[in-house]
Amino acid sequence: MTRHLFTFFGMFLVGALIALAARTARHQPHAEPSAAHPSGAHSQHATTPSAQPSVAAAPTPVNTVCAICGMKVDPSLPTATYQGKTIGFGCRMCPPKFKADPDKYGPAYLRNAVLKP
Ligand SMILES: [Zn+2]
Repeated sequence: MTRHLFTFFGMFLVGALIALAARTARHQPHAEPSAAHPSGAHSQHATTPSAQPSVAAAPTPVNTVCAICGMKVDPSLPTATYQGKTIGFGCRMCPPKFKADPDKYGPAYLRNAVLKP
């Protein structure tokens, strides 16, 4: 019985590690800001719009359009997780539909595709 739980937890950990590795790999090509800056502009350095604000609160969805209704993803709406990826929704109607049948809608969300025109 305990072994069962342990196996489950182990698989969960492996999944988390893979997700973490994938995220790290994706961030790597971004890691080349202007290293040699002429000593003129120091005021521009202050605000970097797309710098990650120390994680956690709201992970960025992998999609930008809602696969069910085709609307743009609304960052203020709650997200869902499918196959370890965060997906976002464009309206309040879609999360319940997604939760009712994740395997129908999930792949389209991951492809950032719209199911119905
Ligand atoms: Zn929607």
